Amino acid sequence: MIYLDNAATTAPNEDVLQAYLQANQSVYYNPNSPHKAGLQAAQLLEQSKSQINQILNLNDEFDIIFTSGATESNNMALKGLAYRKKDSAPVIITSLLEHPSVLEVVRALGGEGFTVKYCNVTREGRLDIEHLKSLMSSEVGLVTCMQVNNIMGQRQPVREVAEIVAAYPKAFLHVDAVQAVGKVPLETEGVESISVSGHKFNGLKGQGLLLIRNKHHLEPIIQGGGQEYGLRSGTVNLPMDIAIVKALKANVQNMDENYTRVQSLSDELRQFIARYPGVYLNTPEGAIPHILNIGFPGVKGEVLVNAFSQHGVMISTTSACSSKQSKLNEVLLAMHIDETRIEGSIRVSLGNKTTEADIEQFKEAFDSVYQEVKELLR
Ligand code: PMP
Repeated sequence: MIYLDNAATTAPNEDVLQAYLQANQSVYYNPNSPHKAGLQAAQLLEQSKSQINQILNLNDEFDIIFTSGATESNNMALKGLAYRKKDSAPVIITSLLEHPSVLEVVRALGGEGFTVKYCNVTREGRLDIEHLKSLMSSEVGLVTCMQVNNIMGQRQPVREVAEIVAAYPKAFLHVDAVQAVGKVPLETEGVESISVSGHKFNGLKGQGLLLIRNKHHLEPIIQGGGQEYGLRSGTVNLPMDIAIVKALKANVQNMDENYTRVQSLSDELRQFIARYPGVYLNTPEGAIPHILNIGFPGVKGEVLVNAFSQHGVMISTTSACSSKQSKLNEVLLAMHIDETRIEGSIRVSLGNKTTEADIEQFKEAFDSVYQEVKELLR
């Protein structure tokens, strides 16, 4: 089986699994318990946070909250920040580039009395900075901009967005960095909160982080025993937290080396695909090499995914979260990509475990699938 759906999830590293198992056996204690074992767990929890601080070069500027994944982190940050601004700055700016775990939260906030404004997207799949400037006002309390898009792999102008937002003291900037962590350096300057997901960098499913610059800016959306500064009640999952540190460390420390390797595999794929008439690369210039979005106008994305699957190659149509829905992908629509090309688009995503042999087998499968569908290409 050739796995090229790493933007959906990645295989956990062996030492991450071991660390999780071992911690469950040896330090299963509740860090909130006042006894010696509880104190040991509390110490390990703090140690995990300071390791994350070091690995990500955060310079103690952020508090770290362990979550069940980026969906929770995005909910916690967006609702938590927005609720604090409801009276003074009730406008939220987002764009159709964002993941559903941002967009649906913002839409829900729209139903709670906030005003939601959508920033345009350029043809290159980036947030339109000039349009953002025109949307900004003293009424804006929250702007959300992902660092790397999950459908196209396009990098977003987080630094420029942060500079614009900085001129409006009431506005916070939230960044969904899920597809950036372990691939490119994290953008933190001028950012209030950052979401991270462990299973995208060889960690486990159901683990994430929320990095928050000032925890007092957040209103808790989960009430209970008051764990994690009162922002995320519930018994802390220390073994998970120890495991995510392991995954993060391995990925960030080897980031440059992995990036170069993935870049060369990705370049090879791009050159290969360019040889097939009627097939287009939707992924624009400037994107990270890990994600290739490819259009087969005239063919349905699901048909392609099934055909590749028959050849043992696992890829996806748009994103795993929305590929079961039949509507056209909003990110590709926002980029003004032709509708037939959107319908026939697939996402091939490479990871740190992708090998040259995987690419060779993908090419063989690609050639077979192409022969099967070429009559349909428009
Ligand atoms: N944001 C982005 C950009 C993503 O790609 C994903 C995962 N598809 C998420 C958020 C949600 O992360 P999780 O699966 O950890 O909830």
